[in-house]
This record gives sequence, C-alpha cells and structure tokens, in this order.
Amino acid sequence: MSRAIYEFTVDQITDHTKEIRELFLTLKNQPEFKFKAGQFVMLHVPTEAGKPALRAYSIATTEHDTKKFRLIFKFVENGAASNFVWALKGHEILNFTGPFGKVFFQEPPDEQIVFLNTGSGLSQHFCFLESKMKQFPNLKYKLYFGVRKEEDRYYEKELTELQKHLPNFEFHYVLSRASDSWTGKKGYVQHFLKETNYKEIPTTFYLCGNGGMIKEVKHQLLEIDGLDKSKVWSEAFD
Ligand SMILES: Cc1cc2nc3c(=O)[nH]c(=O)nc-3n(C[C@H](O)[C@H](O)[C@H](O)COP(=O)(O)OP(=O)(O)OC[C@H]3O[C@@H](n4cnc5c(N)ncnc54)[C@H](O)[C@@H]3O)c2cc1C
Repeated sequence: MSRAIYEFTVDQITDHTKEIRELFLTLKNQPEFKFKAGQFVMLHVPTEAGKPALRAYSIATTEHDTKKFRLIFKFVENGAASNFVWALKGHEILNFTGPFGKVFFQEPPDEQIVFLNTGSGLSQHFCFLESKMKQFPNLKYKLYFGVRKEEDRYYEKELTELQKHLPNFEFHYVLSRASDSWTGKKGYVQHFLKETNYKEIPTTFYLCGNGGMIKEVKHQLLEIDGLDKSKVWSEAFD
C-alpha cells in the first residue's frame, strides 16, 4: 500500500544566513498531519526522470500544531533538494510523506537535558523544546549549537523567546572558525560536555547533525564514561 502524500503550501521563506533557509508550511490536502517531536518528513524533490528524489528533513516546530510546521534547510553544493529548495519563491505546493523516525523525548525526563547540534541539526532540538516546554518547564536545559563563524549563527531570537517559558534553559553558540573578536565559546560542541556536570546530574543527551560529532560524543559518553544507551539519543544528517 502506498503512503499518503501530504501537500503543504509554502507560506513563507526566511533566509537566516547564506546557507540556512527556513520554510513555513501549511497543510493543504488532508485534515491533519500528526507527528511526535523528534520525527522527520520526506520531501519529494521533482526530477527530470519523473520519479521524485526523497530527502529527509526534521520538523523544527511543535508537535501540537497538526496543520503547520517549519523546516530548516542547510544548503549542500550541487544537492538535488538544496537546488530545489533554493529555487522556491513562495506559494508552491510541496509533497511530503511521513512522519518517520524513532528519536523521541524520553519521559519521564531526567533532571537535565543536554542538546548538542550542528548546522541544521538545531531543528530536531527546537522541536523538542517547543513541544515540551509547557509540560516540563522547570528542567535544566542546555543547548550547544555548533556553527563555523559568527555569520552562520541563526535562531537567536527564537531561542531567546523560549527562555521566557523555560527559566532554566541556556544556549550557547560554539564557533569552530570564530574571529578574534568573538568572546563566546570556540571549538566544537563536543568540547563542552564537561561543563554540563553530567556525571553528577542525571542527564539525557540528544545529538543531531554532523555524523562525526555524534560519533565522537557517543564514544566519550557510552564507551569511555559507560553511560547507559537510554541516556544518549542521536540523529545523523549525513
Ligand atoms: C533523519 C534525517 C533528517 C534530516 N534532517 C535535515 C534537516 O532538518 N535539515 C537539513 O538541512 N538536512 C537534513 N537532513 C539531510 C537531508 O536529508 C539531505 O541529505 C541534505 O539536505 C542534502 O540533500 P541534497 O538533495 O541537497 O543533496 P544530495 O543531492 O543528496 O547530495 C549532493 C552532494 O552533497 C553531499 N552531501 C549530501 N548531504 C550532505 C551534507 N549534509 N553535508 C555535506 N555534504 C553532503 C553528497 O555526498 C553529494 O555529493 C536529514 C537527514 C536525515 C537522515
């Protein structure tokens, strides 16, 4: 049996940086699209051959809205989906299948939740935060967001807005190629594990984005520190 195709209209396009584009999408052809925070959809990218190419995108916004969601795209040179998405002007109808994915927010949650992401990997974590902020407002949330340079940062306004609902939410950009004037964190997100005090505070980790980062963090947490698998959840985008 073939999967239902969900048609979404492109309501708004926001270019956050040269490489990051966000699409605001509204469901058009079905009564609702239900998903759980952490899941992704498959975008059907039209091809000359006729059969669409399928690409996965994590839903960036709350699971409580079954009619609209937002997706965050990072441009990949010569990428089929990237070229398609960067050619959009607005009002187009895009086809999706889904939802897919098995990385969910673990409940009951630990006292502390640590998110480590790179590039567009923020999307899955933003979805967790927006979906769970009313249910679990008082947890300690720490988010480390890895990008290359100052100009690659995005979603500062959206993350700051979350802090109004989450009194114990802190987020940090970690820049791998920062200029000398950058006074924030430098290096890679995996260098900041220690400062979360995860050995003292019961903590669940969520990792999203670059596969190399995920591999390194898992090696540290699972193999070196011996954390239980149920405390580390990851989604690699490459
Ligand atoms: C579960 C899951 C969720 C995902 N969610 C998101 C998301 O929310 N946002 C997002 O932007 N991406 C996400 N991705 C990645 C996305 O599915 C595509 O792989 C990515 O957008 C590139 O697709 P493309 O068609 O533009 O490039 P392709 O045509 O697939 O690739 C073109 C070239 O670029 C290389 N390439 C492909 N992907 C990458 C990459 N990530 N980095 C560097 N080089 C690459 C390929 O090897 C190839 O040479 C997710 C992937 C998975 C598995």
